[in-house]
Amino acid sequence: MSNIQNKSDVILIGAGVMSATLGSLLKELAPEWEIKVFEKLANAGEESTNEWNNAGTGHSALCELNYTSEKSDGSIDISKAIKINEQFQVSRQFWSYLVNSNLIRNPQDFIKPIPHMSLVQGEKNVTFLKKRFKALSNNPLFQGMEFSDDHEKLTEWIPLIMEGRTLNEPIAATKIDSGTDVNFGALTRMLFEHLKSKNVEINYKHSVEDIKRTSDGLWELKVWNMDTGNIERHTAKFVFIGGGGGSLPLLQKTGIPESKHIGGFPVSGLFMVCNNPEVVAQHHAKVYGKAKVGAPPMSVPHLDTRYIDNKKTLLFGPFAGFSPKFLKTGSNFDLIGSVKTNNVLTMLAAGVKEMALTKYLIQQVMLSNEKRMEELREFIPNAQSEDWGIVVAGQRVQVIKDTEAGGKGTLQFGTEVISAADGSIAALLGASPGASTAVHVMLEVLEKCFPQHFEEWESKIIEMIPSYGVSLVENPELFQEIYTSTAQTLGLSEKELVYS
Ligand SMILES: Cc1cc2nc3c(=O)[nH]c(=O)nc-3n(C[C@H](O)[C@H](O)[C@H](O)COP(=O)(O)OP(=O)(O)OC[C@H]3O[C@@H](n4cnc5c(N)ncnc54)[C@H](O)[C@@H]3O)c2cc1C
Repeated sequence: MSNIQNKSDVILIGAGVMSATLGSLLKELAPEWEIKVFEKLANAGEESTNEWNNAGTGHSALCELNYTSEKSDGSIDISKAIKINEQFQVSRQFWSYLVNSNLIRNPQDFIKPIPHMSLVQGEKNVTFLKKRFKALSNNPLFQGMEFSDDHEKLTEWIPLIMEGRTLNEPIAATKIDSGTDVNFGALTRMLFEHLKSKNVEINYKHSVEDIKRTSDGLWELKVWNMDTGNIERHTAKFVFIGGGGGSLPLLQKTGIPESKHIGGFPVSGLFMVCNNPEVVAQHHAKVYGKAKVGAPPMSVPHLDTRYIDNKKTLLFGPFAGFSPKFLKTGSNFDLIGSVKTNNVLTMLAAGVKEMALTKYLIQQVMLSNEKRMEELREFIPNAQSEDWGIVVAGQRVQVIKDTEAGGKGTLQFGTEVISAADGSIAALLGASPGASTAVHVMLEVLEKCFPQHFEEWESKIIEMIPSYGVSLVENPELFQEIYTSTAQTLGLSEKELVYS
């Protein structure tokens, strides 16, 4: 059965953190607009956004070494670290606005303070870390960062990691207490509860099968109601494709010129999870190492204290791998189905260029549990196999496109907003730095798609995000003010929280 439903102003496809954020921004900026959400799963935040499917790092470049590269003259480029840190401050401000306005409650249920650390071994890496520390620690955004290559100090910071190491091994770490662990699943569920209370129609178990333009310039969605088996048709003036890994196939269905010559490369992930509470209790930090040669940036190994289901836990990984699925709940035909006549050359060029990466990912999939334990023992020398299990993480679909710098079929590791020239439809592709920068990225969607409203919206945006359009690194007083007030609102005091 098929019937045309009433048209709405906005349709959000997918109930992950991106749609949740865009819907929440729009409800403040244009409260009268009618918004509908279609999600094929039974609940919000079940794919990459779910707390077990990502690492829950509030990415602000405090510990991720891949955001600070070494230039050919040996100096450290911190521009990307500054950009990501500023973007995370945008998220902190919006979340604080929602808490202060009583639109969401109990921020401790989705964000907690946790020291962020970088850890390296070997003389060359220790020299790199020292230089990185010097470059960042004088910058207002990274104040409070400490460096140590002293075994005693490191044992105080990371006893579990230092136990069983020889004293002559060059090893060093930086530590900064202003890091966070973010439960993006919990945040997203809260945001959808808030949206529901504001009369946003949220349709779970509704899969969007097709998108096409109508003669009067609207977008019509063909939606499969998975409970009734009916096909429904819904129209909207604006559509956001927030389908995570499922965004690329939907974008391709729109047929807009901007959707052409783009491909997707899926990367799967695994975490090791510690199920021994005695071991969990001995560690309190997110500790990021250096990616192995040939490994993609998203597979940098890290040992993370996490707070999931009100319990402190320990995750190690992610181990990247190859799977042809675009979503964890996707199909083995996703990758092949995304190859179209307009992107086949781009995809083939990427296939040739990224042979080494494909080989690396296939090797990762083949790793035995004991091999994974060996990698874990580079962090925890005394780790015992019986203390650790495996959880399957979310899928990340990296964008492949033709770029001036990289040529045909270049693999991108960031996020990309693709929108129609008239701003009537936008999709988010890619997954890094990901959920941490959701507010910044969704503001980019609004800027691209609703430029005509920005004069009217600007004062509200500044009320919600006082640093909007301002460089925080160039305005350290404003940064300090924002940092202090958001820490207070979000309960980010620096002492350890006690969990049972
Ligand atoms: C292993 C791993 C580690 C990560 N670590 C971090 C981290 O530490 N910090 C960080 O900030 N980010 C991290 N990320 C990235 C982050 O998880 C993602 O950027 C973010 O969750 C993406 O949110 P989303 O809303 O775009 O997608 P998703 O959360 O995947 O949501 C998309 C939704 O769309 C639905 N959908 C798809 N197709 C359709 C359709 N046709 N019809 C209806 N519904 C549809 C899906 O079911 C899903 O619910 C990590 C990701 C992975 C995989």
